Amino acid sequence: MHTGKVWLVGAGPGDPGLMTLRGRQVLGQAQVVVYDSLVGPGVLGMVPQNAQCIDVGKRAGNHPVPQEQINAILLREAQKGLRVVRLKGGDPFVFGRGGEELELLCQHGIDFEIVPGIPSAVAVPAYAGIPVTHRDCCSSFHVITGHTRKGQGPQIDFEALVRLKGTLVFLMGVSSLEAICRGLMEAGMSEKMPAAVLERGTTAFARRVVSTLALLPKDALQAQIGTPAIIIVGEVCALESQFAWSEKRALGGMRVVLTRARGTSESLREKLQQRGAEVVEMPMISTRLLEEPSGLDAALQRLGDFGWLAFTSAAGVRHFLTYLKKSRRDIRCLAGLRLAAIGPATCQALEQAGLMADLVPGEYTAAGLGEALSQAARGQRVLLLRAKVASAQLTRCMEEAEIDYEDVPLYETADEASLLSPQGVLTGDSREFVCFLSASAVRAFAAQCQPEVLKQVQAVCIGEPTAAAAEQAGMRAFVAACACEDAMVQRLEELWKARG
Ligand code: SAH
Repeated sequence: MHTGKVWLVGAGPGDPGLMTLRGRQVLGQAQVVVYDSLVGPGVLGMVPQNAQCIDVGKRAGNHPVPQEQINAILLREAQKGLRVVRLKGGDPFVFGRGGEELELLCQHGIDFEIVPGIPSAVAVPAYAGIPVTHRDCCSSFHVITGHTRKGQGPQIDFEALVRLKGTLVFLMGVSSLEAICRGLMEAGMSEKMPAAVLERGTTAFARRVVSTLALLPKDALQAQIGTPAIIIVGEVCALESQFAWSEKRALGGMRVVLTRARGTSESLREKLQQRGAEVVEMPMISTRLLEEPSGLDAALQRLGDFGWLAFTSAAGVRHFLTYLKKSRRDIRCLAGLRLAAIGPATCQALEQAGLMADLVPGEYTAAGLGEALSQAARGQRVLLLRAKVASAQLTRCMEEAEIDYEDVPLYETADEASLLSPQGVLTGDSREFVCFLSASAVRAFAAQCQPEVLKQVQAVCIGEPTAAAAEQAGMRAFVAACACEDAMVQRLEELWKARG
């Protein structure tokens, strides 16, 4: 058996956009992922579906998995011949104990690669509008651990640090904040030196306290600053008032959880990220082509009987095209047929295959499509290509208008078991919103949540039926003005503005 390999990958400080391209590529190929608590949910959402995930940040009692045990896990999984990704917050070698993990692998001749990550020491200040160096005030910056052993103060040579006159960045220092500030002042640093504590930087829940060396401990205590946080000391902290930028973005500070099927959230995710939201993908459902889509083959053999093909989702279009390919047909067999799509996303899925929809209703709902077809398809037969469980409104409309149709079930929806669960992801924070694009996603989500958790959920829904399902599950539901992605983004923007 061939031995496996370990990739030591830096996941960046939280914002999934700060994961490197190389890191993403390697993660996409992983068979085992060993991660700890600093890796943000946005990055965990990139873990491939069938990779085995080992959480070594989980605190049993109060102790994280001991380092020797983590080393042993990496060795064991690699010896099984697997591709193992060891995913760590920030950069794996900046106070990440990456070196220790490699030693055991080296002893056993296991292959490895290192993918550096963006370190929090630089990125967290940057997101707060603090450049770690600036020509006018410093010529170096220094990264120091503030970690202390039980019962001891930090073992730091404060005099040496003060002499350097550079920007000082302390990691793991929140519990020693007072001792650090006092140590620097006793070593001669001005009590007026600008200083800041930056909590959960680069994420939607980022908070900061910018103050002076003398006042920072009291100010941070008052703000109840928690971990993870970095302490930064130096003239550069004064630039924050001028350079702060991340929370000024349209959705800066908002966290959006997307629940739709894997691989279908890309464009919505990008729109939200461009506006500064932190996006977490937590697919609650998946769709799959029915094994034997009953009636589909028969319908395809007599396509000439139909005047229209109607699609009610982008997933429907994708599964239909997959089936065509599987049955060795190509889109030329659709020549002469007219195409109806329920809304913009379905249209776009058609366009990707070079097909232009002839009809999109004014209202992107099953009823809207039914009414539009009732007019347009008079005297013609319509082939509906939909999910196994689909809205009766569409067929009711067509029956009332005496339109001849055949309803062919194409795919089915199933609940998805993903690495991220609502219990693990949801914070109950008022800056968090959950997007639902179907009632089935609402139901799958609700099935995994306690009623008290559901009550806190702010659900932004694509249409009335989805919102009704969310309300029924006990969530606070908000509906987009029309059933499309852009309207969902707009609804989120309105909610964010209303918050002030
Ligand atoms: N390898 C990591 C650092 C690990 S030490 C890196 O390069 O970033 C853990 C410390 O990093 C935390 O105690 C905290 O001081 C800092 N840290 C990591 N992520 C952070 C974040 N998003 N916001 C603030 N501090 C963070």
